[in-house]
Amino acid sequence: MNKTEILFSAFRSACRPPAKTTPSEWATGRVSLYEGLSPTYEADSAPWLKEPLDAFADIDAKEVCLLAPVGTGKTTMIEAALAFIVSEDPGGTMIVGQTDADIKDWSETRMQYTLRNTKETASLLPTGKHRHKLRKDAIIFPHMSMFLTGANISGLQAKSMRRVLCDEVWTWDKGMIREAQGRLHDRWNRQFYLLSQGGYVGDDWHKKWAATSQHEFSFCCPACETWQGWRWENVVYDDSIADRVTMAQTARIKCSNADCDYHIDDKPQVRRQLATAGKYIQQTDGMPDSKGYHYSALANWRLPLWRLVIERCEAMDEVNRGNLDLLRQFIQKRLADFWSDEQEDNRAILTGSGYSLAEYDDGEKWEDETHRFMTIDRQQDHFWAVIRAWSNDGSSRMLWFGKIDTWERVKVIQEKYKVENRKTQIDCGYQKDEVYKRCAQYGWLALRGDQRDNYPHPTKSGKPIYKSYSRYQNVNASDGKKTMVCFWSNLAHKDILFQLRNQKGVSWEIPEDAGREYLRQIDAEVRRGEGKTAVWKKKHNDNHATDCEAMQTVLASMLGIIGTQQDTEE
Ligand SMILES: [Zn+2]
Repeated sequence: MNKTEILFSAFRSACRPPAKTTPSEWATGRVSLYEGLSPTYEADSAPWLKEPLDAFADIDAKEVCLLAPVGTGKTTMIEAALAFIVSEDPGGTMIVGQTDADIKDWSETRMQYTLRNTKETASLLPTGKHRHKLRKDAIIFPHMSMFLTGANISGLQAKSMRRVLCDEVWTWDKGMIREAQGRLHDRWNRQFYLLSQGGYVGDDWHKKWAATSQHEFSFCCPACETWQGWRWENVVYDDSIADRVTMAQTARIKCSNADCDYHIDDKPQVRRQLATAGKYIQQTDGMPDSKGYHYSALANWRLPLWRLVIERCEAMDEVNRGNLDLLRQFIQKRLADFWSDEQEDNRAILTGSGYSLAEYDDGEKWEDETHRFMTIDRQQDHFWAVIRAWSNDGSSRMLWFGKIDTWERVKVIQEKYKVENRKTQIDCGYQKDEVYKRCAQYGWLALRGDQRDNYPHPTKSGKPIYKSYSRYQNVNASDGKKTMVCFWSNLAHKDILFQLRNQKGVSWEIPEDAGREYLRQIDAEVRRGEGKTAVWKKKHNDNHATDCEAMQTVLASMLGIIGTQQDTEE
């Protein structure tokens, strides 16, 4: 095309009356897809995306939040929306992805394919001497501009846009949603469109979503005509069947109406029919010009229910081992919901075991007791400590917990509770030299938690065995006095503590009057990550009861009172 032709074509496009059809009708059978279930967009293949796609043409929807599970056609919908915008409702548009690399990859492959192979947009793409206007990070059409960037300050600067479309916002750094929104400069015809799987309760994405008028993709029960969302709480299966696959194959979705017996069978035809006849139903008031759309993976008939049930069961197995990561992913990616460690950690409520602290405050013995340890966490100008009695079968009883102000007071409490010197051990992660000196003076030993997961111990055969704690090593304080320190795996022993605290296995008791501070501190950490890269992270800084109790499990493991799975030969 020469300049005149381009101008003329742009003029024609700009002056053509907008399509009377909705974006989903317009795109169907017309917009070419690089990778789709069909060569062109078909609105019926993802009925849960019809309304969210049509929102692109809704001048009253200044803000749209689409909270959607992975693998349900979101990217395809964006491609259809962009073709619609370029052809039917042009205006400066910015597309913001997680990183520059992600968004440019998608732009070069999928998006450019769609624009080139859809008749209505192909003729508008810059060609010939205007080829330089078609770049990975921008397309300057004759009648509008489109920019692509990752969610970073440099990409989100300066430009003024009519539409800003934000993808996978749950991964964005704090504050970036606001930066992206700033590109709209409060234009009257602006549209801010965010789409993503679920993130974390309290993050920027959650705040945006929470302020919308939330609409839930719903189906109508064929038996009682109750409209309802596709909710996980309505999934039922026969959990008395031991074989997991057989069990999962009994899964069905129960009607939410308690008086109705209707169940949706795990058959694609049945589920498809219900989804195709589905619609969005508003759940909250929210801001009138801000629309939220949500659906879960249960609406997607292509994903068998039994597979979701197996995924969920595997996630719950991990939860019982103290690892929340698979459940978090299930909730964020499959149910497209927001995750909160506090809500989902599945911890048993910790209750007292029918005794009080006063019963032992004169050094009295617990009837099952064979060992007693005092473990101490050193802080800048104070200490926290736990005294716990252990029996040979691994059961244990907490006798004292509290904050102590001086070294001398720590010694007094140790003696009052008749804890042997060698069974009084203190963390040396802080003020190490002073801890070593006091250990030498009092006959205590030092402990040090670290990030390793096992430590070699020599054996007679010459082949070391690996344990979750090291051998004691001799160390010298700066005054030349000698003591010993043992390193222990933070991950392994916090995992053991979590099992005990959740009453999985031997009894691990706390007194009726353990106190609010103990209960707050013992649940101060949550597990993040998987396998050997997992870590226990602090929710708040007062995790001293957790540290002291974890050190108790180190000493109990050393004496063989409780087993550790790490004692395997490698
Ligand atoms: Zn029903």
